[in-house]
Amino acid sequence: MIELKMYSNGEWIGSENKDKSKVINPATKEVLAIAPQATKKETEDIITIAKQTFESGVWSEISPQDRARYLFNIADRMAEKQEELAVIESSNNGKTKLEAEYDVADAISCFRYYAGLIMKADGESYDSPDLMQGLIVKEPVGVAGLIVPWNFPLLMASWKIAPALAAGNTIVFKPSETTPMSLVKLFEIIHKSGLPKGVANLVLGKGSIIGQAISESHDVDIVSFTGSTSVGQQVMKAASSNLKKISLELGGKSPNIIFSDADFETAVDYALFGIYYGAGQVCSAGSRLIVHEDIYEEFVSSFIDRAKNIKVGPGLQEGVEMGAITSESQLNRILDYIEKGKKEGATLAYGGNQLKENGLEKGYFVEPTVFTNVSSHMSIVQEEIFGPVVAIQSFKNEAEAIKLANETDYGLAGAVFSQDGAKAMRVIKKVKSGITWINSYHTTHEGTPWGGYKQSGIGRSLGTYGLEEYQEVKQINVNLAVEPINWFSN
Ligand code: NAP
Ligand code: MG
Repeated sequence: MIELKMYSNGEWIGSENKDKSKVINPATKEVLAIAPQATKKETEDIITIAKQTFESGVWSEISPQDRARYLFNIADRMAEKQEELAVIESSNNGKTKLEAEYDVADAISCFRYYAGLIMKADGESYDSPDLMQGLIVKEPVGVAGLIVPWNFPLLMASWKIAPALAAGNTIVFKPSETTPMSLVKLFEIIHKSGLPKGVANLVLGKGSIIGQAISESHDVDIVSFTGSTSVGQQVMKAASSNLKKISLELGGKSPNIIFSDADFETAVDYALFGIYYGAGQVCSAGSRLIVHEDIYEEFVSSFIDRAKNIKVGPGLQEGVEMGAITSESQLNRILDYIEKGKKEGATLAYGGNQLKENGLEKGYFVEPTVFTNVSSHMSIVQEEIFGPVVAIQSFKNEAEAIKLANETDYGLAGAVFSQDGAKAMRVIKKVKSGITWINSYHTTHEGTPWGGYKQSGIGRSLGTYGLEEYQEVKQINVNLAVEPINWFSN
């Protein structure tokens, strides 16, 4: 059995804690590895290493070009292991091999993007009224605590690790206990890249212990968290201990508005992609379909016809289009929400069951599920289910579509489908979300800022915004006339 190790100060280490956790393949329930559960003290020791390494300047004070060389090297090594990384990701998370391949490719691109970006001459200068020359410079924040969820383990990690390292921070990284496999592989790659020891550190174990220790530590200068809104709130509270910077990428319940003048097939197609991609375990999932009443019946029926044909199964199996639910607890959460939807009076128009035939009983699989006759107060419309469950509402006019779209505490993503360009633009501008599409869904790339309004988070990942999260901004005022100011009389 593989025993995973943590990585600190350039070495692979275990934990004193006798309790270990099992890492599971959710398509088969097979145990992939045994993982250590670091103690609070061990986490604090790893944070100390990161702090000492930051202060030593081996990383924070070398040139951006030198840091970029390491990041390009890491990207190249990831590219060499692209296939292996995709298989590992699919086995541990349950997603299809194709989805995993896209994740790995995007993760590599992200490292290359930040390597390039950090080499770009940056900073500003200004003439000040006091005969000063002013400069605005960016500096690394210090120790970055990075915490990611289980739905896109490698990709979410890369969205944080690449900009944090590019900016000159040292890092303490914590994956979800459920999905550490691809991250251990990434740290093997980082180790082989020759990154100075202590710059990148990996700690494994429980979020409630390690995540909490990172969030409350006075030696961590920024905590960047991706996960649920409720844990994000705990992170924010703990981070107040030393007023560290925070970056929070949280949950969503995103609206996908379909007007009657939309290209019908395109809208149905993207609506399916919006909710069932990643088995709906996607923060930006289009989990609320808001469809114009004139096409409602026809839309629902075409949507269900296509949902029926989605091939659900083990992610590594040829031809499978929707993979497993990542854990038993997530499976139960999804099934509980389906029960709640029924109890609250919504119509279960399709699906709603765990799949337990043809070998699928060996893992955690749920049918693509469709609820109709839903209303805004229902929990299946308000709360993030994080599974292949969509709620379809109808609307009469533009104003009602916007009202329904914004009627949740979340504000992560959203889309509008219409062939009337002006209307689509008008409506999308009123949707209170940070990531939006017109006549599309989910497509994005590392150059554009990713993040949410309202309870979907604080700050932005990716693009230049994503780099700035990991930087402090300093003004330097240089006196051009070095003589006394004579404010006080002699
Ligand atoms: P989660 O339960 O909030 O966990 C996220 C991470 O936080 C995990 O590594 C978890 O560790 C850790 N954690 C748990 N308790 C903690 C605590 N008290 N302090 C600090 N860290 C703690 O979320 P999840 O169930 O893994 O992931 C699903 C959620 O992530 C969804 O809400 C989804 O929308 C969100 N998400 C958002 C984005 C975005 O870009 N906005 C992207 C992807 C996912 P353990 O798992 O080891 O306990
Ligand atoms: Mg969790």
